[in-house]
Amino acid sequence: MEKLSSPKITKEIVQKYNFKFSKSLGQNFLIDANIINRIIEGARISDGDYVIEVGPGIGTLTREISNIAKKVVAVEIDKNLIPILKDTLGDRDNIEVINEDILKVDVNKLVEEKLNGGPVKLVANLPYYITTPIIMKFLEEDVPVSDIVVMVQKEVADRMKANPSTKDYGALSVAVQYYCDVDIITKVPKTLFIPQPNVESTVIALRTHKSPKYNLKDKSLFFKVVKASFAKRRKTILNALSSYDLKLSKEEIKDVLKEAGIDEKRRGETLSIDEFAHLSNIIYEKVL
Ligand code: SAM
Repeated sequence: MEKLSSPKITKEIVQKYNFKFSKSLGQNFLIDANIINRIIEGARISDGDYVIEVGPGIGTLTREISNIAKKVVAVEIDKNLIPILKDTLGDRDNIEVINEDILKVDVNKLVEEKLNGGPVKLVANLPYYITTPIIMKFLEEDVPVSDIVVMVQKEVADRMKANPSTKDYGALSVAVQYYCDVDIITKVPKTLFIPQPNVESTVIALRTHKSPKYNLKDKSLFFKVVKASFAKRRKTILNALSSYDLKLSKEEIKDVLKEAGIDEKRRGETLSIDEFAHLSNIIYEKVL
């Protein structure tokens, strides 16, 4: 069978089923075998792997993953794609398609029931309107995921990978890098999709830390401090933290910053994750 990624086959399937692309569901199907290989290589898929794919579309990437992996569970929201997926993937016994909204799925339960309890890899060409919520769901809900290798909008990949004191560095960079090491796999031009999206894309690999890299006394306080520091980008760290509800007076925040060895005139966007961790641990002691 010719690969589903061939533009000709993709067009034939779309026509055969009279499938109408939904812009609001972020439906841009990949039509390039080379990029699919890059995604699979980036995910370092081997024959023992359990994989979750979000949004299989017509099954192009799913089929290639299933050539190597032990099992793939593909979660697709669009019921119009389900009969197509039965057609394109029906001959595979290591693929299970679930017709659900990934944001409503209890992923830990899914991993327990259908993916051998994990660890799993998340491999996907993500719908761009919910890229960040999907990735953060996997990370914050402590899904046992070792690698997240996904196609995202280029700007989002740049923010996830960004270092302190750059224009792209923000709360998303800290949130992702708190949990993962980040590698850019490849850029992907618009022309390799049907229909073409309005934005350029990047395949990014997030490798989750095997054990927590940062020693935090209170994770939710850490994220509160990060959010406060980036809420007003032009303010100094002292003013940003003072105008946020951290239950500390300006004087107390001055003391905290001094104790953390952070100049109060610095801007939040210059702080490394280590510094945010240290700062939030000191604040934790103060508000006790
Ligand atoms: N994997 C296919 C490919 O690479 O050609 C399709 C990728 S397309 C960018 C995104 C897919 O995610 C679509 O099939 C879309 O219907 C699906 N999708 C959108 N929102 C979803 C959600 N909340 N839960 C699960 N799937 C979703």
